[in-house]
Amino acid sequence: MAKESKQSFDVTVVGAGVAGLMLTKKLSELGLSTALVEKQSKLAGGPSTRNEGWLHRGTYHATSIKDRSNAIQVARRCIYGHEQIKKFAPEAVEDVDLPSFALVRNLDKVNEVVSRWDEANVLYKSVLLKHLSNLEPNVRTEEVAEAFQVNDVGINTRLLYRKLLTSSEKAGARIFAGTDLVFRSPEEAEMKRDGETQPFESKLFVYTAGYGVKQLLESSFNISVPLRYWKSHLMVVPRLTRSSIFYLDPREAAMMNHGEYSIVGLNEDAFVCDNPDYECLEQGIKNIHEAMRRLFYNFDKSRNMPVACIKTDLAEKSAAARSLNISVSEPLPNHICVLPGKMTESPYVTDFVTRMVYEKINDDLIALRPMDTI
Ligand SMILES: Cc1cc2nc3c(=O)[nH]c(=O)nc-3n(C[C@H](O)[C@H](O)[C@H](O)COP(=O)(O)OP(=O)(O)OC[C@H]3O[C@@H](n4cnc5c(N)ncnc54)[C@H](O)[C@@H]3O)c2cc1C
Repeated sequence: MAKESKQSFDVTVVGAGVAGLMLTKKLSELGLSTALVEKQSKLAGGPSTRNEGWLHRGTYHATSIKDRSNAIQVARRCIYGHEQIKKFAPEAVEDVDLPSFALVRNLDKVNEVVSRWDEANVLYKSVLLKHLSNLEPNVRTEEVAEAFQVNDVGINTRLLYRKLLTSSEKAGARIFAGTDLVFRSPEEAEMKRDGETQPFESKLFVYTAGYGVKQLLESSFNISVPLRYWKSHLMVVPRLTRSSIFYLDPREAAMMNHGEYSIVGLNEDAFVCDNPDYECLEQGIKNIHEAMRRLFYNFDKSRNMPVACIKTDLAEKSAAARSLNISVSEPLPNHICVLPGKMTESPYVTDFVTRMVYEKINDDLIALRPMDTI
């Protein structure tokens, strides 16, 4: 039997969540021969579709992150991502014509919230509680200190990823689902799929494999990546309101509407776990039920579906601090690891990594700009 020919690419993106799909689209549209390799048979089957589908616009992270300058940075990256994603896939945005509302329970927090929003350029408008109650009679406003109309929206992640995939394929990217890469050296690998093995080479590898990157780098190159896993719970419930509504306070509910259903999360509920599995824990579900009762008069806990999801965190210097920020590192020359922080930050991360890739794949027919030489 003839030996299969070698697959050869400029860049190989490993892992097809939101970060991998976005990067594949951008690199292939820029004319690089690009492969996307996903080990599961379906793309984006992990956190990228198990999340709240909240296309952030900085509203939440500007206040939930303790350190002010870090919070402002994340908020700005979310605003950038929000605008980019909305422009790319307007058809995936849910309820475009309906407002969303952010609630603050703790009055002492309001001034700081507003001042951070102003600095980060978050869009908001103060709303009378009476007005909110008229619009959403099912929402408990007795303990709300302040309510704001904001520009956060829900996004249909499947539609967004479908469009990213189609654009990538149109631009010539090769998509390999249900495929494993087994490395022989940092430059050479074998691609395994459907029981077949094929030689594989690429000038560059970018790992957007979420929590899978740890095992991949350890088994392939004996490189240890200090990842931590944070388990969070969500709940899918029949839609309760016209508008998406979320508290900014910790341990309160945040709800994004998606058609006839809503996805509810609990702010700052994540806890470290050893195994990145999707098993739902009783306490996680109970906490969401309680937060939903604090937000709604008529929450029926018998009709819901719990979901667990994992956030991956690169534990850098501080062992204790939780940092779900973006992270881009190069543990081995021409092998780049990427964690986008939030789905909404993926456009920012994609731009950053694209620049790195271009610097490596020497494009010397085009002259450098003055700032490229600094
Ligand atoms: C509960 C929860 C709610 C969230 N809600 C939101 C939200 O509403 N809005 C928001 O902006 N962000 C949200 N996030 C964060 C967001 O979901 C993640 O930041 C984002 O999905 C991470 O995307 P990713 O592409 O890095 O990774 P992933 O989605 O984890 O994708 C990684 C892919 O790599 C594949 N893979 C793994 N190992 C290998 C391998 N060896 N070879 C090939 N492929 C491999 C996996 O199968 C997977 O498909 C939430 C996170 C959690 C936990």
